[in-house]
Amino acid sequence: MFIGHFAIAYIFHYFFPSMPLWVALAGVSFPDLLWPILVILGIEKVSINSKFPLQKDIKFNHYPYSHSMVLSTAIAAVFGGILSLLLNNNSILFLFPVLSVSHWFLDAIVHRRDLPVLGFSKKDIKVGLGLWNHGKVAFVSEYLFYIIITLVFAPSGSIVMLLALGTIFHIANMNSFLGLSKTNFFAKGRYTYPLITLLGFCLFIILAAI
Ligand SMILES: [Zn+2]
Repeated sequence: MFIGHFAIAYIFHYFFPSMPLWVALAGVSFPDLLWPILVILGIEKVSINSKFPLQKDIKFNHYPYSHSMVLSTAIAAVFGGILSLLLNNNSILFLFPVLSVSHWFLDAIVHRRDLPVLGFSKKDIKVGLGLWNHGKVAFVSEYLFYIIITLVFAPSGSIVMLLALGTIFHIANMNSFLGLSKTNFFAKGRYTYPLITLLGFCLFIILAAI
């Protein structure tokens, strides 16, 4: 999931306005900011078949540090603590791990059953409701979710810009839902997909928060 995560940041920023919007956006993105770095370092594993462009066909073989409910939230709590010290804002200490775990719950709706619960046990349970198996439904529902939440909770002066930004990024991500191409461009080399993911999340956070 991509733009759907950002909608949760708008809700938290609405109720906790002392937390800067970029921190809320980084919090909900935290698992997908950590994941590309760990994949590039060879610590987490993903496999992409160049013949299949759909998100549902990407196999997240091993990602307990970035995408487990418990371990990832613990790591996010450490980052939240550092950020709250740097920005001298106590609320970030508690909010950052909550924002991060929201990512896991939303991912659990769309992912296949590959999301670990604990992240540190060999007998870990993996979850995922697999909405990505229904590409068109997933595409429309993530977009509607983003639009509705943005209209209700986004900062009033930024609503039009955030609606436009979400629309552009969702369209850019369209092929992974609808499979319009016959190949997966991101399968080129080991680093393309993690780097595109990192770039996409960073770019959205920067553009949405300025
Ligand atoms: Zn994710």
